[in-house]
Amino acid sequence: MEFEAVIGLEVHAQLATASKIFCPCRAKPATGLSVGESDANLYTCPVCAGLPGALPVLNRKAVKYAVMAGLATECTVRTESVFARKNYFYPDLPKGYQISQFDRPICEKGRLLINTSTGCREIGITRIHMEEDAGKNVHLSGYSLVNLNRAGVPLIEIVSEPEMKSAEEAVAYLRALHEIVIFLGICDGNMQEGNFRCDANVSVRPHGSPVLGTRTEIKNINSFRFIEKAIDFEIRRQIEVVKSGAKVVQETRSYDPARNVTQTLRSKEEAQDYRYFPEPDLPPIQVPADWLSEIQQHLPELPAQMRQRFQKNYGLKPQEAAAITASRALAAFFDRTVQLLGGRAAKAAANWITGEVLRLVNEAGQQIESSRITPQHIAALVELTAAEISGTEPLVSSTGAKQALAEAFATGEAIQEIVERLGLKQVSDSGAMESAVEKIIAGFPDQVAEYRSGKEKVLGFLVGQVMKQSGGKANPSVAQELLKKKLS
Ligand code: ADP
Ligand code: MG
Ligand code: ZN
Repeated sequence: MEFEAVIGLEVHAQLATASKIFCPCRAKPATGLSVGESDANLYTCPVCAGLPGALPVLNRKAVKYAVMAGLATECTVRTESVFARKNYFYPDLPKGYQISQFDRPICEKGRLLINTSTGCREIGITRIHMEEDAGKNVHLSGYSLVNLNRAGVPLIEIVSEPEMKSAEEAVAYLRALHEIVIFLGICDGNMQEGNFRCDANVSVRPHGSPVLGTRTEIKNINSFRFIEKAIDFEIRRQIEVVKSGAKVVQETRSYDPARNVTQTLRSKEEAQDYRYFPEPDLPPIQVPADWLSEIQQHLPELPAQMRQRFQKNYGLKPQEAAAITASRALAAFFDRTVQLLGGRAAKAAANWITGEVLRLVNEAGQQIESSRITPQHIAALVELTAAEISGTEPLVSSTGAKQALAEAFATGEAIQEIVERLGLKQVSDSGAMESAVEKIIAGFPDQVAEYRSGKEKVLGFLVGQVMKQSGGKANPSVAQELLKKKLS
């Protein structure tokens, strides 16, 4: 019997607000939290420390960010949604409950387009709800410490429909979502820090069956590579279980990257009853129509739309458009460059940016936005090198242009100045080149004779000699034309 896999993902994204969701404490991204970290429990107050009688006040920015996520994934945003208490005991949860959302989440019924090797497909988004993060326990030998700096940091949980069919699709979905929250500027996307993390629900069923199989849930996987491996392992494991005649048990599992296996964390019997009920200390969240349309109007362009625009308006190939939208900063850099060029030679600009510029920036361990290279530099380089702009022949050879770029990267100096200072302009004017060509013809009589007797390949050698003679400044195609003329 053939089996097929079904995957549904729950993604937690930490919202990049300055303060926490229900108090004015700083929502510092939860870093390291090692023992003795000097700022442990510094960003806390009676509200996020769960002291009796302290009351939550909702952070408006967090609501806005959740709405932005919903709009970007084509969800319906509720005019009125409700916070709920999710009750459980854990030392990093000082109130004994987490404020989350239950039956009336802020966003519902969205979708996300994913691209895989088998094409483009739509994955349904069930819901996006808001909640607070818990603190962090640090376990030591014989005792544990609790750090509440992260308690009350705003999260959104994005829940997908059980519609993905492979680990590849799951990773494509996650990457698409990751890219969106980063482009929206609502989450820093840092997976190592756990600011974007995922639970994967996996089941298998006979191929074509209309009913879902029993699922397991793999908790808190925080890299794309591990997610892919964990899901692949789990699919294989479940198929084996079913083939052996046994049943898959509904349970929570964890992934061990060192051994590349998933293992039982807790079974369904140990699952909690969260006793959800509406949060009495907070009124329902209101998102009136005028606020919603204001947020919609100011929604930044999304990466998928951007790629479409770059392909349509500038004739970039899909791979080129994808390379340019690898980050928001890179895309903005490209947009500005093409603007400076008046929309001309966009392809050449894209090639410079994703090629030489990124190479220089990456090698130096820098970010494009904080490096010395500016869109002005690239526009100037393109002006000097792209044939469609300079009309006939590039004014600077590609080697010369690379040299100028490296110099600009190091010093920030304007391209025109560098080209002047280093004498990088190609000599295209025939008059200035004639003497060089004549010298070469006189200096290499054997090769000249060979060429004249029909060995046309020798021309390349002679062009090379002219280049050498001119110190690399000769425009090779002009030199070639001139040689041909003189030798015929
Ligand atoms: P919880 O895990 O908190 O109980 P839900 O019942 O909402 O929450 O389900 C969470 C996720 O599990 C969703 O992403 C959903 O698509 C996925 N899911 C549900 N049933 C299955 C299944 N049989 N196989 C794979 N994924 C599933
Ligand atoms: Mg779950
Ligand atoms: Zn606080």
